[in-house]
Amino acid sequence: MAEMFYDDDADLSIIQSRSVAVIGYGSQGHAHALNLRDSGVDVRVGLAEGSKSRAKAEAEGLRVVSAAEAAAEADVIMILVPDQVQRFVYAESIAPNLQPGDAVFFAHGFNIRYGYITPPEGVDVCMVAPKGPGHIVRREYADGRGVPVLVCVEQDASGEAWALAKSYAKAIGGLRAGAIKTTFTEETETDLFGEQAVLCGGMSHLVQAGFETLTEAGYQPEMAYFECLHEMKMIVDLMIEGGISKQRWSISDTAEYGDYVSGPRVIDAHVKQNMRAVLDDIQSGAFAKRFIDDQDAGAPEFKKLRAAEAGHPIEATGKELRKMFSWLKSADDDYVEGTA
Ligand code: NAD
Ligand code: MG
Ligand code: MG
Ligand code: MG
Ligand code: MG
Ligand code: MG
Repeated sequence: MAEMFYDDDADLSIIQSRSVAVIGYGSQGHAHALNLRDSGVDVRVGLAEGSKSRAKAEAEGLRVVSAAEAAAEADVIMILVPDQVQRFVYAESIAPNLQPGDAVFFAHGFNIRYGYITPPEGVDVCMVAPKGPGHIVRREYADGRGVPVLVCVEQDASGEAWALAKSYAKAIGGLRAGAIKTTFTEETETDLFGEQAVLCGGMSHLVQAGFETLTEAGYQPEMAYFECLHEMKMIVDLMIEGGISKQRWSISDTAEYGDYVSGPRVIDAHVKQNMRAVLDDIQSGAFAKRFIDDQDAGAPEFKKLRAAEAGHPIEATGKELRKMFSWLKSADDDYVEGTA
């Protein structure tokens, strides 16, 4: 059984007695900075000079300095810039400002697991990884709840790294929901696998394949959109509430029988073989190398794939259809329709 931590297992005063730098103010960065601030933690945001996020952070009343200044001032440094740029920001702005006794924090283990960042001895290396998008991490905290988190310690130089990591997790609201104790390796490999095989890659392509099958057979795209994409959320909500069983309890017997007899025809033994191959590439570092090499070259493959996927016919159908859904308008984020 995984070891779990809740609010009573952590001492908020530990992180309140430290100086925290949040480097980056994107999805996770804004949520961590604001939740820490509202938990009474001394926090500054570290951003590049011309960063577009600067005005947003300052509008929230946060103090913004350069990444190097933030790292120099602080003794806990949370790195929340994109995984593919972390090693540059670390080398340029963070490493020169690390003192023995400082702590470096991550929200994903990618750069530690694959060796792109190696902090010096004498520094605690911890992870607090919310299991949800940053905008939900902030929204849940503001509503008095939290998003579950993973906590790990890669290097316990101080002997107090676990208490510090749990305290940080509590300050962002993660222990209201609960934390699971894990390792950088397990977090990195399972996070990449989950997003590639199931949550993002698996689901996006399952939805697209269903939409293509129906429209190629002559059904209206709007019908295909409803049946293969729109209803997904309601099915997933039931799974979150009570597992696959509750979802099967709520659907009709017709749908449930179809799940049993047709589901395995779609997700057959080949799918698990393919998943195993995806996991092999994650474990060997082949996926990480492919991603970083492409990013370092200016992301030609990434940009080509992003443009091609945005052009899938389901996106155009959905864009028109969603105008009917007045209840879907989300007001608290800055997502621009048609971008990824
Ligand atoms: P993001 O892309 O939303 O934001 C990155 C921010 O970093 C930008 O807003 C900007 O302020 C800054 N930045 C970008 N490029 C920079 C550069 N070259 N130099 C300096 N600063 C730069 O990032 P994110 O999705 O919040 O991811 C941050 C970390 O959190 C990653 O390790 C990611 O794996 C992890 N994570 C993200 C989520 C999520 O909800 N998106 C969930 C769990 C973990
Ligand atoms: Mg994840
Ligand atoms: Mg991830
Ligand atoms: Mg139906
Ligand atoms: Mg039923
Ligand atoms: Mg994106």
